Amino acid sequence: MPSQVPLVEYLELGDDPRLVANECTQCGARFFDRRNACASCFGTSFKKAPVEPTGELRAFTIVSFAAPGIPVPFVAGVIDCAGTSVRANVINCPPDPEHVKVGMKVRLATYPIGTDDDGTEAIGFGFEPIS
Ligand SMILES: [Zn+2]
Repeated sequence: MPSQVPLVEYLELGDDPRLVANECTQCGARFFDRRNACASCFGTSFKKAPVEPTGELRAFTIVSFAAPGIPVPFVAGVIDCAGTSVRANVINCPPDPEHVKVGMKVRLATYPIGTDDDGTEAIGFGFEPIS
């Protein structure tokens, strides 16, 4: 059983993978990156807040050009997960406007990105359509 590490710090692996945001304890704004102060109210205390693993696609861009080694096209999206805005790729779906629609229901999905020399597997995430 290879060990797994999440690609980003805010992805929690396990039987039910989920994203965990940093929530400002003063105003409730949520952030995925580590910050010292809230961008909304300048509060400095945060708590961990699990994010709904399902949501609705609010906006997307079909990306056709990327750095070497990154397969294109892919779909970069903004997903509204019960009020929390998440930037992620839409995966397991053909990357074209016929299949990707604003307002479609999606859910969190994880996938292996690669394995290092010690056999540790890196896990990334995206959102896939709920069919
Ligand atoms: Zn705040």
